[in-house]
Parts: sequence; C-alpha cells; structure tokens
Amino acid sequence: MNALKPMPKEPTPLPGAEETTPCIDTSKMSAGQRAALELTEAARETVAGRGSFAQGLFLGRFDLSELGPFPEQTSEDRDQGDAFLQRLEKFLREKVDPDEIDRAGEIPNEVMEKLAALGAFGIKIPSGYGGLGLSQTNYCRAAMLLGSYCGNLTALLSAHQSIGVPQPLLLFGTEEQKQKYLPRVARGEISAFALTEPGVGSDPATMQTHAEPTPDGDYFVLNGEKLWCTNGTQAGVIVVMAKTPPKRVGGKPRNQITAFIVEMNWRGVEVTRRCRFMGLRALYNGVIRFSNVRVPRENILLAEGKGLRVALSTLNTGRLTLPAACVGLSKRCLAISRKWAGERVQWGAPIGKHAAVADKISRMAANIFAMEAMTLLTASRVDHDKHADIRLEAAMAKLWGSERAWEIVNDTMQIRGGRGYETAASLQARGEEPVPVERFLRDSRINTIFEGSSEIMRLFIAREALDPHLKVAAGALNSQWPLAQRLKVAAKAGLFYAGWYPRQFLPRFYVSRFTFDAHPTLARHLRYASNASQRLARALFHAMVRFGPKLERQQLLLGRLVDIGTELFAITAACLRAQGEIDRGVGGVKESKTGSHSGAVNGAPIPSKENLVELADFFCRSAQLRIEESFRALRRNADRQNYRLAQEVLKNQFEWLESGIVEKNS
Ligand SMILES: Cc1cc2nc3c(=O)[nH]c(=O)nc-3n(C[C@H](O)[C@H](O)[C@H](O)COP(=O)(O)OP(=O)(O)OC[C@H]3O[C@@H](n4cnc5c(N)ncnc54)[C@H](O)[C@@H]3O)c2cc1C
Repeated sequence: MNALKPMPKEPTPLPGAEETTPCIDTSKMSAGQRAALELTEAARETVAGRGSFAQGLFLGRFDLSELGPFPEQTSEDRDQGDAFLQRLEKFLREKVDPDEIDRAGEIPNEVMEKLAALGAFGIKIPSGYGGLGLSQTNYCRAAMLLGSYCGNLTALLSAHQSIGVPQPLLLFGTEEQKQKYLPRVARGEISAFALTEPGVGSDPATMQTHAEPTPDGDYFVLNGEKLWCTNGTQAGVIVVMAKTPPKRVGGKPRNQITAFIVEMNWRGVEVTRRCRFMGLRALYNGVIRFSNVRVPRENILLAEGKGLRVALSTLNTGRLTLPAACVGLSKRCLAISRKWAGERVQWGAPIGKHAAVADKISRMAANIFAMEAMTLLTASRVDHDKHADIRLEAAMAKLWGSERAWEIVNDTMQIRGGRGYETAASLQARGEEPVPVERFLRDSRINTIFEGSSEIMRLFIAREALDPHLKVAAGALNSQWPLAQRLKVAAKAGLFYAGWYPRQFLPRFYVSRFTFDAHPTLARHLRYASNASQRLARALFHAMVRFGPKLERQQLLLGRLVDIGTELFAITAACLRAQGEIDRGVGGVKESKTGSHSGAVNGAPIPSKENLVELADFFCRSAQLRIEESFRALRRNADRQNYRLAQEVLKNQFEWLESGIVEKNS
C-alpha cells in the first residue's frame, strides 16, 4: 500500500512574494559587509514557486505531498547501481589498503588506474560522454561505500565529480564544453575546484585572483593564487573562480566573479606546494599559482560574472555526496561499536550492557537511520525532478549528517577505549585486529569545515528560511527606500500577516492522508512535526518583529531556529522511510537480482516492522527532546552575556587566563 497520496495544496502562504526582490537594508553595514552581502545575494539561486518542503517548515507549512512517499529505487536503476557497486566493492576489498594509503600519504598509481577503468571518475556523467550515467541515488550509494572504507579515495572522487569539472559542466556547460571535457574527466583525468584563497574562506567577496579580458576580448588573463585545492596537485583540468572587471548595476559598480575551466598544463599554471593535513593524508591538495594564464573566453562557465552562482549551484547538489559518505562511515562505526561492545567484558559484563555505552549505541543506530533517510530522500528528488529545489534539504543533510557523523566517530573511539586511540598498524603489531577508528576520526574532522562549514550552513539555511518574509516585509524596514514605498510595502505586509499569523495558532488535527494510513507511532511523530513547524514559524516571526534588520546578527538565535527546522526534516525523513519500508512489505522487502534493497549493496538483512518502528520512534523522541530544548533556549539563554564576554576575551581582558603555558614562535 502506498499511503502517501498528493493532498490538495494549501494556499501559497506568501502571495506576491515572487514579484518583490529581497530589500535588505545595507545602510548600516561596513563596506566589506555590504560587498559580501551584495555579491552573495546577486548569486543566490532563486527558484520560482512556493519553495521546498524544508522552506515550508519555517512558514508553518508541513506539506508531505511535496516529498511524496519514501522513494523506492526502480529495479532498473538499482540493478545498474548494484552492478557498479559490486565491482567497486570487490576492488576495494581486494586491492585497496586504506591504512597503507594513509601511512604513505599517496594513492598508488594502480589504484588510480583501476578506479578509472571501473568508471569511478564518471559515475554521473551520461554514457554519451563516456561516463557510467548512473543516478544521483546510485552516486550517493557509491559515496556511502567509499566513505565506509577509505576517506582519501572518497575525497578524491568526490572533489573530482561533486565540485570539480563534471558537476558544473553538467549543470551549465555548453555542448561544446561538454564534448571537449566530459569524456576526458570520465576516463580519469582528474579535476578540481579552486575557490579558496589565503584571504578568502567562507566569504568570496574579498577574492584577489583576477582575470582581465585581452583587448580583442578573446581571452582572459588570469593572475592569483588558490589555496587548498583538493586534487589540485594531480589534476589535468580545474574550475577556477576569479574576479573579472566590475559591471555597473543600478548605477553602481558591482564586483563580478567568473568561473573558468583551466587546463593545468597551460603556461603560467604552477602548483607551488602540496598541503598536508591532520587526516586525509593522501589528499592531493595544493596551492596553485596563476601567472598571466591566457584562458579562452569559451572556457567561461555559464557567463561572465556568474561564477558565484556556478559555485553555489554546483554545491547545492554536490554537497549531497558528503552526507552520503558520512552515512557509510557511520555504518562502519556502528559495526565496530556493536562488535566491541558485545565482546569486551569489563566490571563483570560486556560494556554494551553498561547504560553509558548502550546510550551511545542506540543514538548511533537511530541517527544513522535518519541520516540515510535524509540523504536518499533528497538524492531521489534530484533523480526525479531536475528542477526540484533541494537547496535546503541538501544543506540540512550536510549540516546534520556531518555533525552527527563526527559524534558517531567520537563515540566509537570512546567505546573502543584505548584501542580506539591506537593506530591500526600498532594494534596489528600487537596481534589485535587493526580497527582503524583513529584514522576515521582524523579523516572525518574536516567534514564540518569544508563544502560549507556548519556555521555558514546555518546562515545559508536561515537566509533561505527568511526569504519569503524578506520578500514580503523587508522593504518596510529599509531606510534606503523612499517613505511612500516603505508604507506601501508595510500595508501589504500587514494585510498578509493579518491572515498568516493567526493561522499559525490553529490546532492541526489533519496533517495528511498519510497520517491516517501510517503506523500510529509514526503518524504521531508526524503530527508533532506538523505542529512544531507552526511553533517554528511563530518563533521566527517573533524574532523578526523583535530584532528587525538586526536579526541577521543574532546568529545563535537563528542557529537554534535552523536546528529545529533541520530536526523536523530529519523526523519526517525517518518516519517516511520507516513507513515506506513497511509498505513495501515487512519481512519481504523487494529484492533486486543481487539481493539488495534501499541503498544497501550486499543483500542487507531485511528489517522487521518492529525494528523499523522502534528505530524511527526512538529517533523521533530524541529529536523532539533536542527540539524542545532549542525552543526553551529561544526564551531563556545567556546569549548577550555570552557575546559580551567573547568580545572582552578578544580585547585581551582575560589574557591572564593564558598564563603558565608554553607557546612556540610567539
Ligand atoms: C582538506 C581541505 C580541503 C579543501 N578543499 C577545497 C577545494 O577543493 N576547493 C576550495 O576552493 N576550497 C577547499 N578547501 C577550503 C574550505 O572550503 C575552507 O576551509 C572553508 O570554506 C572555510 O574557509 P576557511 O578555512 O578560510 O575559514 P574561514 O572562512 O576563515 O572561517 C573560520 C571559522 O569562522 C567561521 N565563520 C566564518 N565566517 C563566519 C560568519 N559570517 N559567521 C559565523 N561564523 C563564521 C567558519 O565557519 C569557521 O569556523 C579545503 C580545505 C581543507 C582544509
């Protein structure tokens, strides 16, 4: 039975929103803040329509019909994926030693060659261009497999095809560019993405790398230096973001960033250093210098001045690889923890019988279930609707998945005790099983930093959550606008909120037909999520009224709202997944030719209905506790004192706390 049927749409909650542009008051910002804001606002991907499911959560709109039932891969798609995954898995097991790669800091040539022969560099590239042409879901399954085994190979393949040349080329490339580059990168010519610079981390407005057009306009001359370019030291072709001459927008000069495809063997391109890190020791990550590199105009991606949009759009889907890899890593951690907690006996019992360890294991299992659900649900939307707006869902999956995976690896190390901290090689030398938790911990720490740090993800989600409100009401508070225009906007906004706000207090008895047909426990959690989304919408509205344009500076408050929205998405994904698997037939989940289902590769054991409900129920209860805590903290917190104290620390007023330490090079 497929319980989830489309329900009649609620009225679009913010009428007229599409016509107005966000009118953020920048008059009180510093020049740097204004430039950063204008640049990112200009690059924001705006999608027409009512917004995604996740955006609806912040508006009190809980519309399950936007997600549909939990996706089941078609048997054709699953079998295509299985065929590749089985070859990849066999190769990893038989030919790849991830601990040796970690120790040597190098990926052997034979591994690179075999990966290329398997098609692992062109998983999503259509077969017409020489790739495997697999779906986003199958690509995510490959990332799960790799993430469970070798962080270095995961980063190599992910940087290559999630952010390197293939993804932006598939999204924005001309047919000529695709014909020229896609077959090369699909065959295994490594690619990379170069945005970061010494002074440019999360904020691209301060970019120094620049490209000037030649007098005939046929070329751009590229100069500058890029930092931490993953795959950069091995790449044949990369995407480079550079400043191009400003354009006048509304009478004022506006900075332009353009994305170029650059070949690494062109004159003037030089890798000046290979960077080394705490983990991912075999990452081919480098500093790349460009000195008067002539880039043909036809190598511009999308258009001059659209580089940031290329980068942001690339990351919207590209970002899904990371939570998928986190799922694989977390599953491996669960397997390690389960085994060790069952066999290690201390104080007269297996350590898993002690509640403090048991708590870690149950949280791990529940979080993995939700993490995989969020990732597969979002990946499937990419597969089924090219135009689906998945920006928030992907960002939530990245934010939540990378933070939970870090907790899971950390907990796994705690459960393994001293053995968790010991290297695999040392364990083996003592005659014990070489369990690589120490490597996993080092390799996974970066996940909350790159491809959008957690802090930036929260700001990004908050910006998108606020967008419908900004479109309706921000103009009224914009001191840069004429009074008459502000009053007009205020009147329109007043009218809108007079209808919208009271609706957020109406108790909801009906959520969706889904909740009638769903397992009662799951239906209860979905009703909670629906009601909590109304509370979230009210809380966001109250924060807007209280802080006005200063709300963007309330990062802790916005962070709590984002965390609530993200947990609500996680609850929804977990419940849909559990119900989806129940609907497909408990104890008889459809099997593909290879015996696998729902993202698993090797004939995973079939879960029972009780298992599914128990896992989802525990996850939802835990998420509800976190949500309620965040709601409480919206009302009662020490945010102001917190900020004041930090500023005093930064002004060296507490330097005395740092006495009695040794600092080198200070
Ligand atoms: C191993 C590795 C691989 C990488 N690969 C690539 C690559 O292939 N291509 C590429 O272009 N880049 C790459 N990067 C760069 C990576 O994306 C950046 O490190 C990341 O964007 C953060 O930039 P940053 O380190 O300069 O931190 P900063 O931007 O300086 O930020 C420092 C801290 O401040 C926080 N912060 C910054 N701004 C705000 C704000 N407004 N509000 C709240 N908090 C804020 C950040 O979240 C972070 O915690 C890589 C980095 C590493 C370490």
